[in-house]
Amino acid sequence: MSEMPSVALVTGGSRGIGKAVALRLARDGYEVWLTYVSKPEEAAKVCAEIESAGGKAQAFRLDSSDREAVAAFFKETVKDKATLSVLVNNAGITKDGLMIRMKDEDWDRVISVNLTGAFTVLREAAKIMAKQRGGRIVNISSVVGQAGNAGQANYVAAKAGLIGLTKTAALELAGRGVTVNAVAPGFIATDMTAGLPEAVMVAYTEKIPLGRLGAAEDIAAAVAFLASPGAGYITGQVLAVNGGMYM
Ligand code: NAP
Repeated sequence: MSEMPSVALVTGGSRGIGKAVALRLARDGYEVWLTYVSKPEEAAKVCAEIESAGGKAQAFRLDSSDREAVAAFFKETVKDKATLSVLVNNAGITKDGLMIRMKDEDWDRVISVNLTGAFTVLREAAKIMAKQRGGRIVNISSVVGQAGNAGQANYVAAKAGLIGLTKTAALELAGRGVTVNAVAPGFIATDMTAGLPEAVMVAYTEKIPLGRLGAAEDIAAAVAFLASPGAGYITGQVLAVNGGMYM
């Protein structure tokens, strides 16, 4: 019998949706390993909250877009030291602007974190899960990756790319007992959306059939379902959690 912990790895688990996912998966019995980049104190708070509720958690400074750091993390910290039960590819950023004025560096950075970073982490996790002959991968996409959104060409391209990656990884890993799905959140109240002007917030909310912004916990519940035994026959899917709003 393996003594290794059953770990759920959540990228960008220090704030927002990733934090809610980390707290929820800890409640569901996983040891949670979360990554962050710029706010160690927020990551430490999430770990403390999990531990004070009787769970186990560790935080790692790991930029998903740093290929060498990601490879080293999996080689030195994950491989042969944990059963990697769940990966939630959640880390994401925005650098919005109209397409014709979008700077190359804003395009590159968003693709690098939101798509290439997710691929890099997924590829390393997949090697371990394939060997384990089991695991669950959930990629956090977005409603805008399904519908498009003016002013977010870089972000939308990354989120749509993540859906294609999800479907392909699902096919490649199915024979190894690994499922790969995406969750496509609608408009969720987090730091990412807090900076939007009041008028934009009101306009978005008016378009949501369920009449409210989503909470990070709404997304966490969907992720927890896809990680649960009940979702064992679901792979390559995009679960929209958007209050009925398709933009
Ligand atoms: P958030 O509140 O801004 O939190 C982003 C998280 O990602 C933070 O923990 C941040 O860590 C981490 N992060 C940023 N860059 C990273 C990198 N290079 N490597 C590793 N971690 C990194 O965002 P959120 O609203 O919770 O969004 C989470 C995910 O859901 C994103 O993929 C986002 O695109 C997606 N999403 C959000 C919404 C929404 O309405 N909020 C809707 C659809 C999809 P630090 O604090 O250390 O930087």
